[in-house]
Amino acid sequence: MTVLEHAPSPDSLFERIEPLLARVSKPVQYVGGELNSVVKDWDATDVRWCLSYPDAYEIGLPNQGIAILYEVLNERDWILAERTYAVWGDMEALMREHGVPQFTLDGHRPVGAFDVFGLSFATELGYTNMLTELDLAGIPLHAVDRREHDPIVLAGGHAAFNPEPIADFIDAAVLGDGEEIALAISEVVREWKAEGRPDGRDGLLMRLAASGGVYVPKFYDTDHLPDGRIRRIAPNRSGVPYTVRKHTLMDLDAWPYPKKPLVPMAETVHERYSVEIFRGCTRGCRFCQAGMITRPVRERSIETIGSMVAAGIEATGLEEVGLLSLSSADHSEIGEVAHQLADRYDGTNVSLSLPSTRVDAFNIDLANELSRNGRRSGLTFAPEGGSQRLRQVINKMVTDEDLIRTVSAAYASGWRQVKLYFMCGLPTETDEDVLAIADLTKRVIDTGRRVSGRRDIRCTVSIGGFVPKPHTPFQWAAQCEAEVVDDRLLKLRRAVQQDKQYAKAIGFRYHDGKPGMVEGLLSRGDRRVGRVIEAVWRDGGRFDGWSEHFSYERWMRCAEEALAGTGVDVAWFTTRERDHNEVLPWDHLDSGLDRDWLWEDWQDALDEREVEDCRWTPCFDCGVCPQMDTSIQMGPTGRTLLPIAQVRQGLAATPSSAGAPAL
Ligand code: SF4
Repeated sequence: MTVLEHAPSPDSLFERIEPLLARVSKPVQYVGGELNSVVKDWDATDVRWCLSYPDAYEIGLPNQGIAILYEVLNERDWILAERTYAVWGDMEALMREHGVPQFTLDGHRPVGAFDVFGLSFATELGYTNMLTELDLAGIPLHAVDRREHDPIVLAGGHAAFNPEPIADFIDAAVLGDGEEIALAISEVVREWKAEGRPDGRDGLLMRLAASGGVYVPKFYDTDHLPDGRIRRIAPNRSGVPYTVRKHTLMDLDAWPYPKKPLVPMAETVHERYSVEIFRGCTRGCRFCQAGMITRPVRERSIETIGSMVAAGIEATGLEEVGLLSLSSADHSEIGEVAHQLADRYDGTNVSLSLPSTRVDAFNIDLANELSRNGRRSGLTFAPEGGSQRLRQVINKMVTDEDLIRTVSAAYASGWRQVKLYFMCGLPTETDEDVLAIADLTKRVIDTGRRVSGRRDIRCTVSIGGFVPKPHTPFQWAAQCEAEVVDDRLLKLRRAVQQDKQYAKAIGFRYHDGKPGMVEGLLSRGDRRVGRVIEAVWRDGGRFDGWSEHFSYERWMRCAEEALAGTGVDVAWFTTRERDHNEVLPWDHLDSGLDRDWLWEDWQDALDEREVEDCRWTPCFDCGVCPQMDTSIQMGPTGRTLLPIAQVRQGLAATPSSAGAPAL
């Protein structure tokens, strides 16, 4: 796409977009106008954000992070926020043919006209889509080539905890919770504009970097040792801090978003109203980046949860409510939350769900409570590792007996289908650890048949390939080779299917290990990986999170070409174990976790030693609370949902009088 020499007009492009719609698949995803969407007067606002989850509309629209920021920003009368998503190949081709730039769904304005282009990455596999969006927007791909009028390209989301592979393409990155920092950035942009944009684009980036809460990659230089490892990453100008800290929102009750989420025009992956019931997790599963980087635990109160559910249903008309978090059953008052919500919506069409469940019988009571209205989907538990030994390595404190007790309670309560989630390729894993999944699953079926007295019960085993992630104890681990993962999964499949007694009762779902290698490259890569991403994109790489679009062969071919002469390759970034002294590409980005604590936890993993959850035991000094000046916040508060009145079919839910004020 042509790089524009001046800022594009913010006027709507819809007249140019509309003729293209009849010629593309699912055109409704490009028209906007969803219930609760906002179109503001451009000239009446000071700071304008374009927000993107760089995937297709059906994946991007339900993204909770974008939904929250969209509301938080638009609630300020001086800020305007619109959304854009990745367009499918047919639309991309037509946009290029007709010179239509990447546009927002709300005002159909060109993305290049905004002050800030904020992208949220839940996964690294969205990086090539970011390049398509930039290119279609007419924004130079490389930050160094951008001009004064180009938006500041800002990355957030979990993948931003190591943004080095995309350092060439972004102007800045933020770590952690976005609500407060998005407003703080807006203030900085407003002031800088009001002052006549002193020192241009770099002047603005310098103000953001100097705050210590925004990472600006161009203000840091990376040196390498002759063997390819990083010698150091350091600021290249004064006033820029050595480390950049993550943001932690401490009072979830004061930020009850989303209040009015968008109701999709086209089919999306989730059509439910989701309330985050707490953030953070301290269970300490060593593979889990989300758990590590979102510490400490901060609960939303039962009152705010109740008022958000009521208001959210009313604002959207949605009938499914998800109580979200990394481990929802761990909320200190989850029993009361489930019981009181089930009471309130008894006899209505509102269904409640708890997407993530831990392995214990308490969850069966919860599931029974939440499915009072009669809807029973399968129950999912995540033992993650097949053998007890491996579960000690990954700090998943679940025994075989715990699992058998839990599924026994589930089948005895009338559930016919249980799903179990495991990972393959974990550190220290052997064939025996993976084959233990077959034995465990057969015990599950035997137990189910015995307690239910029926033959028609099922267990689905779902297996994902493990990818070591930054800011976890496994950040130093060697990733298991794709061939080894595939071989173990094949053996497991045979072990399950050869036994005719169980073959029909056990479903088996897994992906091959290859996408995991690319994810591993992008997760733990450094700035040299940027050239691989660009080469893949130039070769046609798009929508890498979709198996039908992902090409392992393309990634490997492009990596070989792009990394030629650097002395490093895909294996160097993925299957190589790091030692304690190696400078990691994300060491200057502070998630609050103490590096030495992470290393000790890695050594504990190798020694198969477990660490307790600090919610119930004394602090074990992971570093987050003192480092970030935060603390664990949890109940029980002993409060109730108000009012407790039951909602009858056809009547609107009444929000509780409690709940948080807007800002
Ligand atoms: S600093 Fe202590 S209390 Fe805070 S999350 Fe870490 S282990 Fe838990």
